[in-house]
Amino acid sequence: YSAKDTRSGERVYHPSQDRNTPTRLALIGDLGQAIDHRDLQVVFQPKVDPATGHVTGAEALARWHHPEQGFIPPDQFIPLAEQSGLIRPLTLHVLDVALRRCASWRRTGHDLGVAVNLSPNSLLDTDLPDVVARLLRETGVPPHALTLEITESSIMADPTRSLRTLDRLHTLGVKLAIDDFGTGYSSLGRLRDLPIDEVKIDKSFVQRMAVDRRDRALVTSAVQLGHALDLEVVAEGVEDLDTYTHLTREGCNLIQGYYVSRPLPADAFATWLRDHEVIPASRAPERSRA
Ligand code: C2E
Ligand code: MG
Ligand code: MG
Ligand code: MG
Repeated sequence: YSAKDTRSGERVYHPSQDRNTPTRLALIGDLGQAIDHRDLQVVFQPKVDPATGHVTGAEALARWHHPEQGFIPPDQFIPLAEQSGLIRPLTLHVLDVALRRCASWRRTGHDLGVAVNLSPNSLLDTDLPDVVARLLRETGVPPHALTLEITESSIMADPTRSLRTLDRLHTLGVKLAIDDFGTGYSSLGRLRDLPIDEVKIDKSFVQRMAVDRRDRALVTSAVQLGHALDLEVVAEGVEDLDTYTHLTREGCNLIQGYYVSRPLPADAFATWLRDHEVIPASRAPERSRA
């Protein structure tokens, strides 16, 4: 791989500059194969409405178990896919698997939605809305049961073109969420003008809110801002009961995090669902105290 000399003379690995080395090209080839062979796994992490304790849906997250290198986290292979033209097939694979699973939960009586992440380049893909419409038709999942999660920065790359894609998706009836909310640079005015339904407060704020007054203040403001703009507010990265309780009191609409469940393989999720469709009162103390 490529290395760069620093002032101290050390050689430092820079993945972003690691363009066309044999290692990188081999990894890109393997990722392409994994997508083609449907070996890229999709796991599901539940979202819970803390006011009722009901599971309302799940976020689909991609997992890659490389045959030789083992588990490679999405924070590594998603950028690789973005830079190598594989993001389109990857996104379509995840959408396809997620919608099929969602259809099967719904067939077995669970009124659940599913959320899929979109990368910056997906917003520049002008036939994404048509593909999404076709997949919804094929699986029979109603548009409102699909949420697409995007980041503020992904819109900034080409706001005009991204907005056109978002408007078309929104017209289909699909829900749009701003992911990692609070970490981007977009203006409040832009947030007002985007056709979005939901903001997901980034886990970096949520994870420390039970112990850090400043993080708690930021989360409180984000919940209020979201509600002032008529958006649903989701907190990701909720790891303990204290944080769950705080967020419930703040009026946060949905909760996602290890406290409720880690992301699960589809079969394990279906089993989990049977036992947890309503998170019992012992895990939702705000109801037993009310
Ligand atoms: P994200 O969309 O913000 O997803 C939430 C991440 O937080 C996931 O990491 C999830 O496993 C993790 N998480 C959830 N609850 C907790 C918690 O309580 N504590 C902690 N420490 N972490 C928690 P993951 O699966 O590693 O994914 C990382 C990022 O990779 C995602 O962030 C998303 O941006 C991207 N990604 C994953 N799958 C896909 C995909 O299919 N397509 C695209 N475009 N991006 C994806
Ligand atoms: Mg997400
Ligand atoms: Mg996020
Ligand atoms: Mg994130």
